[in-house]
Order: sequence, then structure tokens, then C-alpha cells
Amino acid sequence: MNPIMKYYSTNKNTPEVSLKEAVVKGLASDNGLFMPERIEAFDPSFFENIQNLSFQEIAFEVAQKFFGEDIESGKLHEIVFDTLSFDCPVVKVTDTIYSLELFHGPTLAFKDVGARFMARLLNHFLEKKEKLVNVLVATSGDTGSAVANGFLGVEGIHVHVLYPKGKVSRIQEAQFTTLGQNITALEVEGTFDDCQHLVKTAFLDQELNDQVILTSANSINVARFLPQAFYYFNAYARLKEAGVLANKELVVAVPSGNFGNLTAGLIAAEMGLPIQQFVAANNENDVVFEYLKTGKYNPRPSVETIANAMDVGAPSNFARILDLYEGSHDKIAEKIKGFRYSDKEIREVLERVYSKTGYLCDPHGACGFQALREFLSENQIGVFLETAHPAKFTETVEAVIGEGKVLLPGKLAEFMKGTRRVDELKTDYEQFRKYLFKKGL
Ligand SMILES: *Cc1c(COP(=O)(O)O)cnc(C)c1O
Repeated sequence: MNPIMKYYSTNKNTPEVSLKEAVVKGLASDNGLFMPERIEAFDPSFFENIQNLSFQEIAFEVAQKFFGEDIESGKLHEIVFDTLSFDCPVVKVTDTIYSLELFHGPTLAFKDVGARFMARLLNHFLEKKEKLVNVLVATSGDTGSAVANGFLGVEGIHVHVLYPKGKVSRIQEAQFTTLGQNITALEVEGTFDDCQHLVKTAFLDQELNDQVILTSANSINVARFLPQAFYYFNAYARLKEAGVLANKELVVAVPSGNFGNLTAGLIAAEMGLPIQQFVAANNENDVVFEYLKTGKYNPRPSVETIANAMDVGAPSNFARILDLYEGSHDKIAEKIKGFRYSDKEIREVLERVYSKTGYLCDPHGACGFQALREFLSENQIGVFLETAHPAKFTETVEAVIGEGKVLLPGKLAEFMKGTRRVDELKTDYEQFRKYLFKKGL
């Protein structure tokens, strides 16, 4: 039996911690991101028969490599199978380009996978505590819904979603304001930055933290980050099963914002998954694109685009990519090829793919598709991560392909029918603080 897996900080200025501590804390105390000390490769024979396993079975094998030393196998099996109550199928778009559809979960975006896994893992770690754990999350839209739905009904945990009044779409809002149970939506009279500031202030409030257990479900959390490797393995298995990989190299394109999704793919490749090349597709927020070209990393404020989940000016997981390749620009630029698209280009791709193939991308997936279109060479097969359902961006997509063409999936329609329940909050911290103290009683 190996020693229990430790997690170190990418800033390397604080002692290593256990999985439990990394999950409960989220961010390391030196502000670095946690990384597993070892990435265990699979025996090559695993990939010879992987097509005979289901997505859930594959995910369990991968999860054992990450968490097998820390969580008893039966429990881990339960967590993985419960998390993946939906599939991540691969769908053919052209002769050489496939879509890995990550939008079949409860909120129709890939963040469901990480959020659901984290909720179940946290619940497992906190099982013996009788005090309520409070998850605080500030959201500009999609993160709030994935986290709220991921934690819905999970015992011993209460989620407080802070969002800026009037600044998230009706569909997004319905996904976290109609849930009830252990989810409270807090409508803040301010901006997203105000929401984030309230949350950060609460985490730093020592007196409050002495009485009330607070934690974050930020996307940098290892329990949200690592499970994203699961579906890269599934993409390979399903393509192999379909017989399209014979004598072909696999290229994977990832629409990227904070680069958590792509970094999880890099980890999958380090575990032996045969991916020849990663392609990072960006919108006009192109700091990593520039880095790949020039070796200079210049984070800057984000700009708004129609692929808004990628509007990130300082991608947090860049620290993990640097760490994986010892800061070598050469290695990173070899592993990842960058592409960048303007809103105009994204609209053109959406329209063209839809009219030529009948496949409807969302604005993020469209970036991934086009990057493959430009990159792929003859002996290669490409798969892009379709990170959200197009109905989450109905206005943008219908403006391109025509009014009334995007069907609202049943799951989204259900949310819209629910009763909206919110508490109102001012931006001043005292009111939020009093509210949280009451939770500790
Ligand atoms: C969060 C998100 C992304 C970006 O993923 P990162 O892991 O932050 O790079 C892309 N598309 C959609 C729809 C998202 O919600």
C-alpha cells in the first residue's frame, strides 16, 4: 500500500496537505493551487480494452488513481456512480471532427461533473461532524447553478449563492433560485465583484470562522478539477469503440477560460491516455494564446464576449500548467496549440457548422470546432469539448440561426416553472456577517 497521497501548493511556500484538507480549504494558505504529488500512469493494457468499459466504469478506474489511497473503494465507487448519473457521449459532426457532449447533466454544462463530485466527496469527509458546513459561492451565472445543483439535497451542507441583482440571465437565475432545500439564493444589490468581495471578507473573518464552518466550492478546488479528467478517457474509449481511431492520432480541442478543463486533460495524458495534441480555443481573452506564441504571460482585465464563460483575463489554472512542465515554455507550447476567435468569427462558425452538418454548437463549442478545423492534418481525428448546451445561450444562438430554432430542453424548462425564492442583501458586510452567524447557531 502506498502512503496516502499528499497535495502540494504550486507556490511551494506551505507544507503539503491531505486530500481532505485540500478539499476543505480549496486554496493553499500561500495562495497557490493544490496539485497531487504523484500522477500515476495506467498500464498500457488498460487502453487496449478500455472500449469495453462504460463511462462510469472508466471514471471509477481513473478516480482510484487519484483518490484510491484516501477513500475506501466501495465508497469511491458510490461517489463516482452517483456523480455520473448522466452520460458524456461522443457525437460525429464531420468525417474527422467529433463533439464530446458534456452538457447532459442537471445544469447542462460540464461544470456539473466537478461540482457533483466535490459535493459528494465533501459530504463523505464531513460525515462525522454534526455541525452544518456552509458553502459560499459568488457567481456571475453558470458556476452558481452547477454548485447549487451539485450540492442539492446533500446532507450536512448548506449552500449560499451570492449573485448580482439583474445581471444574470433568467434561465441562469432560475437554476439556483428555485431549488429550495439546502440552497439559499442571495440577491446582492451590486456587481459580481461585490458578491466576490463579500465572500472573501467572510473567509478572512476569524471571529466568524471560529463559530461557523465556511468553505468555498471554487473551481480551483482539486475535487472539482481532477474529476474533469474522467471524460477525456471516455472520449478515447468511445472513439476506439466506434473504430475511428485505427492508425489515427487523436487531437482534443478545449474551449478555455480558467484552463481547469484543459489542465485536467493534460493530467489524463500524463496518465498515459494517447492524446497526440491539445488545442486551446480562446475568445478575445487571449492571454494564454499570446503566451504560447511569445513566451510572455501578461494577465489583464477580461473583455465581454458571446462565449462569456471564457471571459477570463487571468486564468487561475495557468499556475498548474506551469507547474506540470516546470515552467518550460518550450514544453508547454509543444503540448498545447492556441487559437483565438472574435465574436464575429464565433457567429460565422456556429452558422456554418449548423447549415452544413445540422449540428448546433454553443458559442464555446464553436471555438473548439473551428480550432480543429484549422489544426487537423490528414492522419488525425479531432474531438472538441462541447462545454454547454446551446439553449443556455438561446439569444446569441437564435440571433445567428433564426428565431425559435433552439429547443429548450426539458430540464431547463422545469427550472423556469419553479417558484423563485431569494433573500436580498446589501453590499455592506455587516448584514451578510449577521446572516452567517445565525447559521452557526
Ligand atoms: C467554465 C466554462 C468554460 C471554461 O472552462 P475552464 O475550465 O474555465 O477553462 C468553457 N465553456 C463553458 C460553457 C463553461 O461554463
